[in-house]
Amino acid sequence: MPELSNAIEIRDLEVRYGSGHKAVRILHGISMDVPTGRTLGIVGESGSGKSTLAKTLVGVLRPSSGTVTIGGVGVTAARGAQRSQLRRAVQMIPQDPFSSLDPRCTIGQALAEAIDPRGANVKKHQERIVQWLETVKMPADSMYRYPHEFSGGQRQRVAIARGLILSPAVVIADEITSALDVSVQAEILALISRLRLELGLTMVFISHNLAVVREVSDEVAVLYQGEVVEHRPTAELFDNPEHEYTRKLLSAVPGVPGFSIEPETSPLAAS
Ligand code: ADP
Ligand code: MG
Repeated sequence: MPELSNAIEIRDLEVRYGSGHKAVRILHGISMDVPTGRTLGIVGESGSGKSTLAKTLVGVLRPSSGTVTIGGVGVTAARGAQRSQLRRAVQMIPQDPFSSLDPRCTIGQALAEAIDPRGANVKKHQERIVQWLETVKMPADSMYRYPHEFSGGQRQRVAIARGLILSPAVVIADEITSALDVSVQAEILALISRLRLELGLTMVFISHNLAVVREVSDEVAVLYQGEVVEHRPTAELFDNPEHEYTRKLLSAVPGVPGFSIEPETSPLAAS
């Protein structure tokens, strides 16, 4: 994929569920760019449209209008070879690593399958698999073991390795710490923030939790009822939130030491 100043361009994006008079519009004309090598954080309460946006970025949902361009290629318009190229170039890291890892496959098989879905061959790709397990700080022999033998945090490390093993141009991370125990969340955040710098990842990092988004994002966009109400560099947004809704989200974040311990809650409903 060519070097572009913006890895992702989102223009006037509208997404609806359903059709005809039953259609419900979820995203209301979103426009944003993500520069190559940067992380855009998306924050908003449950139901604000974050996962809808994520699915549209990876091409699982089609927008009712507007465009998403990744590496200069229109996600909706891409066909044939371009489409399969995009599928490799844009990887989603799932929220729940347990349901995303096949319990019958070893970790090695899961990673080999990510490299080559048609001919998952652990032996052939062993060197690369071991290297990635090392990168996410998992012991090399975990390649012979099964998902249930690992903790939630370890499985999420594997899911991260699987998402990155093809060196994707763009990574979409949707609530990747939300299913984890509080004590493990910080560990996974630390891993992601190291990897994004080491690998120069372009990432869209989504969470309902502002404190989590803050740790890994260069810029933050605040999504409220399907609209971006504020989008600014991370430090600016935290120092001087402009929108009332951003202030509400901020006040719902338990102060120091940075990582929220709250389950998914609605700051608006709470007030
Ligand atoms: P978030 O990820 O921010 O919690 P979602 O994008 O999952 O929000 O959902 C946004 C809105 O779209 C919610 O009101 C949700 O109920 C609705 N929604 C999500 N998926 C579907 C679907 N498949 N069909 C109809 N409505 C949906
Ligand atoms: Mg969601």
